[in-house]
Amino acid sequence: LGRRINTAVTDLTRAPTLDEKAFDSMLRDIANALAEADVNIRLVANLRKTIKTTVKFSELPPSANKKRIIQKAVFDALVDIVNPHQTPYQPKKGKSNVIMFVGLQGAGKTTTCTKLARWYMARGFKTCLVCADTFRAGAFDQLKQNAIKAKIPYYGSLTQTDPVVVARDGVEKFKKERFEIIIVDTSGRHHQEDALFAEMVEIQNAVQPQQTIMVLDASIGQAAEAQSRAFKETADFGAIIITKTDGAAAGGGAISAVAATHTPIVFIGTGEHLLDLEKFNPQSFVSKLLGMGDMQGLVEHVQSLKLDQKETMKNISEGKFSVRDMRDQLGNIMKMGPLSKMAGMIPGLSNMMGSMDDEEGSVKLKRMIYICDSMTVKELDSDGKCFVEQPSRMTRVARGSGTSVREVEELLTQHRMMAGMAKKMKGGMQNMQKAQGQL
Ligand code: GDP
Ligand code: MG
Repeated sequence: LGRRINTAVTDLTRAPTLDEKAFDSMLRDIANALAEADVNIRLVANLRKTIKTTVKFSELPPSANKKRIIQKAVFDALVDIVNPHQTPYQPKKGKSNVIMFVGLQGAGKTTTCTKLARWYMARGFKTCLVCADTFRAGAFDQLKQNAIKAKIPYYGSLTQTDPVVVARDGVEKFKKERFEIIIVDTSGRHHQEDALFAEMVEIQNAVQPQQTIMVLDASIGQAAEAQSRAFKETADFGAIIITKTDGAAAGGGAISAVAATHTPIVFIGTGEHLLDLEKFNPQSFVSKLLGMGDMQGLVEHVQSLKLDQKETMKNISEGKFSVRDMRDQLGNIMKMGPLSKMAGMIPGLSNMMGSMDDEEGSVKLKRMIYICDSMTVKELDSDGKCFVEQPSRMTRVARGSGTSVREVEELLTQHRMMAGMAKKMKGGMQNMQKAQGQL
């Protein structure tokens, strides 16, 4: 999607006459790309109007960087849609906060329940889980396994078949025990949608949650609008979690869900692992959807700092980006601060660091640098593929840097993504450098 939008914008700036007609045709291309990424058709139409009115094309001075202005307008309009300008419920310490999960079967409720419980536990809340899915055989077992792994107290029943009873009993028990975060997992499937919704309402009445969260699979596509509306009307959820944002789906459906229900997204699921949960950040979500990040902004900032970037710049302009280039960038980011602002400019990094404060972030960066520093010269100057071909190298690097194989993998994933960006940027960078008289 990002590439298509960039292409549309580039075509415009290359058009022999940069006129209103070329601008309109570019807007059409962008609209098509967004619709194909599952952003709701009506939203896309509105977006097109918004961009047209914010970018007063005919009034732009000839010297204006039209590409940047238009890209920014698209970006801002999308951010505005996923940002419902509403603060979600904030659990309070010293009280029982009941959080109920709803969503279709397979959306990722059970997985996300545990992730969220761990998230609160790590922030000092006394946290537990209640399994009110008596519909699917094995549902309780799944929750139990997750809970044990994360060391979270849980409640469920293998004999009681009424989910309302299980939910009520579990919540009562944990309230008595003064748990602060009580997360109730529910079933998503029923032979009939009406029956599912009726069950949801009954559980909701029984446990009186402070917050109901709808879990939505990122790959839901155009169905997102109708589905989230239906859930909203029945279970009036106050927050959304989008799961499987690590998958191939463009995620446009998530935007439609927010727009249709005016409900904030609070977290996103980024993998199957317990730790793969990140606080939602509209800017990085849209960056990812558009596949752009603010690479150009980053490069400009870095240039203004006069850090030694020659080698990396040269590489990027050739579409290359070695692990060493990444290490140099990480080192520079450490020098540049404030970290949160910098990380927000790098696609992927912004996702990774989005939920961290500057201190957590710099610890993470340092560990990434240790990982790079434990590599051999050959590995550092490589494109990272040698690690895929020989996974034992990852183990060695993890051991050498005092980190985990998982962190090494994460760094390499990050690197692959940045290298991909470098490839896409090749043309743009060359133009930029030319413009700045550096080539
Ligand atoms: P439920 O039916 O709504 O409870 O869904 P589950 O929690 O059982 O999840 C269904 C499947 O989706 C499982 O295989 C999960 O591992 C997977 N899953 C959940 N969240 C994510 C995510 O953020 N990323 C990925 N890749 N898989 C996920
Ligand atoms: Mg489940």
